[in-house]
Amino acid sequence: MRGAIAVTSTDDNFTILEGAEQLATYRFNTRTAEHHFCRNCGIYTHHKRRSNPDQLGVNVACLEGISPFDFREVVVYDGQRHPGDNPAHRTYTAGTLTFTPVE
Ligand SMILES: [Zn+2]
Repeated sequence: MRGAIAVTSTDDNFTILEGAEQLATYRFNTRTAEHHFCRNCGIYTHHKRRSNPDQLGVNVACLEGISPFDFREVVVYDGQRHPGDNPAHRTYTAGTLTFTPVE
């Protein structure tokens, strides 16, 4: 999932419009999160969050009418210090990505 801008959704608010049969799924480490990718091009589409399995993280590049370049600033979370791995379930921020379009 490196490099993807993801938004949060829930199963009942999420519909795959086409290509569901092309998705592959993998789990690793704690095997809680389900990561879904396109079998053809490898793009990450969405995942069931390990920090909250009732939520989905959805790649904004896969959402109709939304571009990753619509976001001028994106908070980057520190995946090395996952909220599920510390007793307080704290989320750590690694930094902020900024996009500045050419005038
Ligand atoms: Zn694809």
